[in-house]
Amino acid sequence: MNNYLLFCNNENWEQVYFNTKSDIINNGFFKKKLESFYGKRNHIRCACNEKNHIYMNIRKNKKKDGTFFFSLGTNPNYANLHSNDCPFFNNSDEYYDEENNIFNSIILDEVKTNKTSSSPTDINKIDEVNKKRRFTFRHFCKDILANAYKYSFNSINLKNDRRNFCTPTFSDFYKKIYKILLDTDIRNKRKMETIISNIKSKGYNLKYGILNNNLNELLTNINSKKNNELINLGLNSFTKDFDQYYYNFNITKKHLVDAAQICKIFNNYISGPYFVFMITKNKIAHRFYLLPVYVDLIKDSFCFVDSDREREYAEYLTKNSISFLKPFGNDEFKYIKREKIILNNSTAAKPRFYTRPDFLEFDNDKIKIVEVLGFMDNKEYVDHLSKKREEYEKLCKIYNFLEYKEV
Ligand SMILES: [Zn+2]
Repeated sequence: MNNYLLFCNNENWEQVYFNTKSDIINNGFFKKKLESFYGKRNHIRCACNEKNHIYMNIRKNKKKDGTFFFSLGTNPNYANLHSNDCPFFNNSDEYYDEENNIFNSIILDEVKTNKTSSSPTDINKIDEVNKKRRFTFRHFCKDILANAYKYSFNSINLKNDRRNFCTPTFSDFYKKIYKILLDTDIRNKRKMETIISNIKSKGYNLKYGILNNNLNELLTNINSKKNNELINLGLNSFTKDFDQYYYNFNITKKHLVDAAQICKIFNNYISGPYFVFMITKNKIAHRFYLLPVYVDLIKDSFCFVDSDREREYAEYLTKNSISFLKPFGNDEFKYIKREKIILNNSTAAKPRFYTRPDFLEFDNDKIKIVEVLGFMDNKEYVDHLSKKREEYEKLCKIYNFLEYKEV
């Protein structure tokens, strides 16, 4: 579930993970990279497609105030090669404004086909456009969630004077989503008004919360239903003041099955609960995004998880009152001052992770990089793990406050 960019350094390809486009745009590390690679041909690749090399171009863009910023796009010769879940998948410029990090609200609308009068080619084209819009909606959601998690982690730890970091709470994370959507008091001012007012003016509703079903069970139960048949589900949602309420909605089987694909891991769905982001009209969801989550409402603890074992581990950490961060984007430490990271008089700067750790555990003066082992009979997984292990062990030698742990 990770995306990687590859940067060519003297014929070696350095690999760096990212999750959303705003990781690249807002992150100082990527900003510097793009600036230093500007003008070099075929020096950056997106690694989302194992079969093809996808070369990326850096563009130098002029802002309205006359200053410049660098952005990344696909070299036209390699367009359409990105995988479905890559943020560059739709060659996105048409739906995404890089300068302001704004998604176009057209991603909420479906183009209607007229099956009797349209030719098969037209129908195919329309299907393709709708698919692009649906996938871009996923990136829109992911971007909001990654930012909310980042702000939540940073605000709780900026106020706090302890050296030990705190886990972001679910209630604060949830409230941060409201703030991002309403664009109030968030450091990185993002203009969401257009997309939000468009949602309202079209009679759409934006809802998000926790879905307590289990996909393996749910999809087996609806197996015999027709694709366009409506499934009734309920969402645990919260008001601005975090009062819980139940939201009933319907979704077609086809939509649900499509959305579930991102929760699939080696032919099995990760169990529920899931965090859901959706757009509804007349209580029917026509945009639906879901991600497996660990959440404990009583202890106000949560994180997104990539497997059932990770959820168990998050539960263990919460039960034992161990503070942790489950990195989601590539930018969680953005506003944390360097001094807070440097422990035991180490003079090095913040460590940078090139692959995403499963968890970071905070234990007095130590930060533990945790890998939750699973799928040890899968070669792809084992290869990836050994690369991660190598990287983390190297980092632990440089930074004496880091420790590597496998569970
Ligand atoms: Zn890609």
